[in-house]
Amino acid sequence: GMKLSKSGEKMSDMSGLRSIMEDVATSTAAGAADWLNLSIGNPAQIKEVVDTWRDLTATVVAEDFSLTSSRYGPSRGMPALVDEIVAYFNTRYGWGITADNVAVGPGSQMLFFIATALFAGEVTDGSFQRVVLPMTPDYPGYLGLSMDPDGVTGIAPKIELTGDRSFQYAFDFEALERCPEIGMLLLSSPSNPTGRSIDGDELARLIDVARRRDVPLIVDHAYGTPFPRVAASRVAPQWDENLINCFTLSKAGLPAERIGFAIGPSRYIRAMVSFMANSVLHAPQLMQLVAARALSSGLLDRLASSVISPFYRARRLYAERLLADLLPDSIDWRLHAGEGGMFCWLWIDHDWFDDMALYRLMKTKKVFVVPGRHFFGKPMSTTSEAPHAKRCFRISLTADEHVIAEGVARIAEGLLELRHSA
Ligand code: PLP
Repeated sequence: GMKLSKSGEKMSDMSGLRSIMEDVATSTAAGAADWLNLSIGNPAQIKEVVDTWRDLTATVVAEDFSLTSSRYGPSRGMPALVDEIVAYFNTRYGWGITADNVAVGPGSQMLFFIATALFAGEVTDGSFQRVVLPMTPDYPGYLGLSMDPDGVTGIAPKIELTGDRSFQYAFDFEALERCPEIGMLLLSSPSNPTGRSIDGDELARLIDVARRRDVPLIVDHAYGTPFPRVAASRVAPQWDENLINCFTLSKAGLPAERIGFAIGPSRYIRAMVSFMANSVLHAPQLMQLVAARALSSGLLDRLASSVISPFYRARRLYAERLLADLLPDSIDWRLHAGEGGMFCWLWIDHDWFDDMALYRLMKTKKVFVVPGRHFFGKPMSTTSEAPHAKRCFRISLTADEHVIAEGVARIAEGLLELRHSA
C-alpha cells in the first residue's frame, strides 16, 4: 500500500464533479460521436479565434523561439509579458501598477490554488481560516482547491424571481458578515455557472468585508472584461489594497496552453511568486510571448469585442428560444437571467426533481448535463435554500447548435419522465 499524508488523502480523492468529468471523458471517448455533450467547460471552437491564435503562435515560433529555447525564466513571468500587462492595465484603467503587482502563472486555476495554500488552513497562531465563496453557486473548481478537507466553504444565495421563466441570485451579505474564520474571499464574475456579474455596489461591499477582515478578495474574470468577454461585466476591474484580480486566456481560446495572471498589491503578489518558484517554477514561456503580442497588438481586444462577445450573445439568445420552445409548459422551470455566457443555469422548482437523478437519466439518453449540487459545495449556512442546490443543472452552449437543440429536446423528454416516475 501507500501511506498518504492528510493533505494527500484529500487531494487524491476523486469525488463530486471530478468523478463526473471522468465519467464524461470515458463515455465520450468510447462511444464516439453519438453522445451529446452539454457538460463541457471548453470554449467554443470559433474559426476566427482558432485561426488567429494559430497564426500568432506560428509567428512567435518563427521569430522568438530562441528567446525561450533551453532557458528557464523568472517565476513572476517573462518581462516581455509582465511589462505588457502593466502597460495595458495602466492605460485602460489608470491603475499605476508596476511589475511588482503582477504574477503570471500556468493557468488561473494554479493561481487560485496558490492563493488558497497561502491564505486558507491552519495559521501559525493556531487559528484556522477558510476560503469563503461569498455567493454559491460558483465554479466547482474552487471547491477542490484546499489541501484541507474543511478549507473551502460558501454562502447560500438569496433567490429573486425576475419573470415567469427567469430568476437571479443575490448576495446574502448578512450571512457573509456573520461568517467566521475567513482567510480569503473568492468569486467568479461573470460567474460560472450563471453568467451573473457583480455590480459596482456589490464589489464595494465585498471589498469592505475583505478590508475589515484584513484578507484578500480574489475576483476571477475568466469570462469577463476586458477579455474574453464571453459574458457581460457590469463593472470594470478595480484596484484596491485588498483585491487580487485574476485573468486568463483560457476562455479566449487557449485553455490548454495554461496562461493566466494575477494583479494585486505587492504583499500578496510577492508571496504568490515565491510559491510559484517553490512549486511549478513558472508558466510556459512560448505562450507568454504569444500573450504579450496579443495584448500589445490589440488582437486580444479585437477578438473579445468583435468575435467572442457577439458569438456568445447570439448563442445565449438561441438557447433561450430553444428552452422556451421545447421545455414543457407544465413544468416550473426557470433560467438564471443573463447576457451571453458559456452556460445556461436551470432551476426546476419541483419536489420530484433531483439533479443526480436527471444526470443519470440523461446518460441513458446519451446526453451529458452537469448536476447543480457540485456548484454549492458544503454550505456554511444551511438555510431553507438547501433543497435548491439539488434542483438545478447546467448546460453548456459551446457545442454546435444542432447538438444543443437535440440535447434540449431530450432534456424535455427526461423532465417529463422524471415527473412521471416520481
Ligand atoms: N475560473 C472559472 C470561473 C472557470 O470556469 C475556469 C474553467 O472552467 C477557470 C477559472 C480555469 O481557468 P484556467 O484555465 O485559467 O486555469
